[in-house]
Amino acid sequence: MTADPATTPAAAPGAPAAAAPGAEYADTASAAYRSILQIIETIEPRIADATRKELADQRDSLKLIASENYASLAVLLTMGSWLSDKYAEGTVGHRFYAGCQNVDTVESVAAEHARELFGAPYAYVQPHSGIDANLVAFWAILATRVEAPALAEHGVKHVNDLSEADWEKLRNKLGNQRLLGMSLDAGGHLTHGFRPNISGKMFHQRSYGTDPNTGLLDYDAVAAAAREFKPLIIVAGYSAYPRRINFAKMREIADEVGATLMVDMAHFAGLVAGKVFTGDEDPVPHAHVTTTTTHKSLRGPRGGLVLATEEYAPAVDKGCPMVLGGPLSHVMAAKAVALAEARQPAFRAYAQRVADNAKAFAEGLLKRGARLVTGGTDNHLVLLDVTSFGLTGRQAESALLDSGVVTNRNAIPADPNGAWYTSGIRFGTPALTTRGFGPDEFDRVAELVVDVLRNTTPEGSSKAKYTLAEGTAERVRAASAELLAANPLYPGLTL
Ligand code: PLP
Repeated sequence: MTADPATTPAAAPGAPAAAAPGAEYADTASAAYRSILQIIETIEPRIADATRKELADQRDSLKLIASENYASLAVLLTMGSWLSDKYAEGTVGHRFYAGCQNVDTVESVAAEHARELFGAPYAYVQPHSGIDANLVAFWAILATRVEAPALAEHGVKHVNDLSEADWEKLRNKLGNQRLLGMSLDAGGHLTHGFRPNISGKMFHQRSYGTDPNTGLLDYDAVAAAAREFKPLIIVAGYSAYPRRINFAKMREIADEVGATLMVDMAHFAGLVAGKVFTGDEDPVPHAHVTTTTTHKSLRGPRGGLVLATEEYAPAVDKGCPMVLGGPLSHVMAAKAVALAEARQPAFRAYAQRVADNAKAFAEGLLKRGARLVTGGTDNHLVLLDVTSFGLTGRQAESALLDSGVVTNRNAIPADPNGAWYTSGIRFGTPALTTRGFGPDEFDRVAELVVDVLRNTTPEGSSKAKYTLAEGTAERVRAASAELLAANPLYPGLTL
């Protein structure tokens, strides 16, 4: 169980806190996992085997994927229960199935923690993922801004009360709205209106980018685009932008053009929860609707949630049946546990360390001659331009993986290698910070990354093939093994 936030003392300044919670119940968890794996083994041994191997792989690699983390054993164990078996379409106290009293408790507790943690008037914890959370938000905004006024105009309460002709008109209107979001190559996400995603098929989309010289978000350019395009929705938030955003400014822009401000804080929710982003950098007081995943820097189970103002809450609350089917009650339970953990003082220490570590890592790369998009970071991620090493993102990603460093390639602004091969590698600090890494360890990781990239040579004109100088992978793996052994994943978990 997590400690009472009111009685748990704050971590001492400079304390090497912030390692994954759970060491105190690792023995119990070990017994639980041994039993679980034994049971799986009798039914489908390949799954037991893959589950064991995944733990070993996660323990043995330097995980620098910015969107990944290690949830606590309490969060993981919470997901393995019979709560999974219950259908509970609807909302708390208003379900389409009987017998949902326990799911009501689960959902209420998770929502209460989300509201308290983020200081939001309303929280909806049913979305199964970040994409689902964004779809719920989009449709809640459309329902509030487009559908509700149309129903009022026709003097009816429900879409089913509209005539066929009026419904057809409303459907066309719903499908013709405008959305302004950050461009993909500046760090935006596919769900912010891009064609391969349903959001790009639902909306007329336009993008704002970043300043070509600094790589930083240019608020005047966003305002100019908003004035010209007049979007219904402005989306702020990113997957690969290594800087903080001034959400007060984004709200001013939205207000000026009558747009709804939606913030997708999927990547940096942990930094908001941990009060690293406050004031103008905290999206929740400024956005009409805020969405997030729960599994990235927030360190919970895979899933999503939506926060909203009173104005948008009634529509968000209809996420099911508007967009979703039955909620994943076992995952909502795990969200409640993770959010309770995030309300502990130790989580604040963790979040601050995530940001400090990203700075240390960026400085470690810069002092070894690397080129970073925007010249550094002030959040949890770092975007490295690998063209200065003569590589594509694809080659760099593969060479790093050969050396036990797990990252992902990423486009950089105006990427000469396109979205598949790319010219960037995105790094993030949330996962290794959970293991206990601090600034010194991240400086060493930067050294290892540069070692790999300097020893990688493209093969001919190929954008994918490369040669890694002999001995590099072994040297880097040996050095990482020392760092990993000193900062074990799930210490005390013996399987
Ligand atoms: N929004 C942002 C900003 C993301 O980075 C992501 C995932 O990477 C998502 C939404 C989608 O989250 P999920 O993979 O849980 O659907």
